[in-house]
Amino acid sequence: MVRLKPGDRVNCRLKEGEIVGAYKEHDETKTFEIVAVGDYGYYLHVPVYYSIKNTISIDRYRLKKMDIDGRFLNEEMIHINENMVCQIVHKVDGMPCSICKEFSPMAEANQEDGTFTCWSCRQNPYH
Ligand SMILES: [Zn+2]
Repeated sequence: MVRLKPGDRVNCRLKEGEIVGAYKEHDETKTFEIVAVGDYGYYLHVPVYYSIKNTISIDRYRLKKMDIDGRFLNEEMIHINENMVCQIVHKVDGMPCSICKEFSPMAEANQEDGTFTCWSCRQNPYH
């Protein structure tokens, strides 16, 4: 399997609120974003409304130590093994800013019309 990186999205299967192996009996499939890569698997962001058991909170210490993006501070994550990835949803490779046209790696659409506006253009559209 290809090595995934933070920002990539994967589908995992769930049985009674726990992530199970990709080929196990399951109740539902959910999409998760990878926040960090471990030696034997991945750490996935768990939105609170997913109500999944055994999550780990992303505090300042873990955020720094594991090099997790700042937007996940105080969110929850869970560790999975590589064989629990059921499907890779899509690879994020970045987008150009719709205003200044500068390409930002890892960027995703952040405007209602599906385009991306970079941080500096959002702070000051006339820079
Ligand atoms: Zn811009």
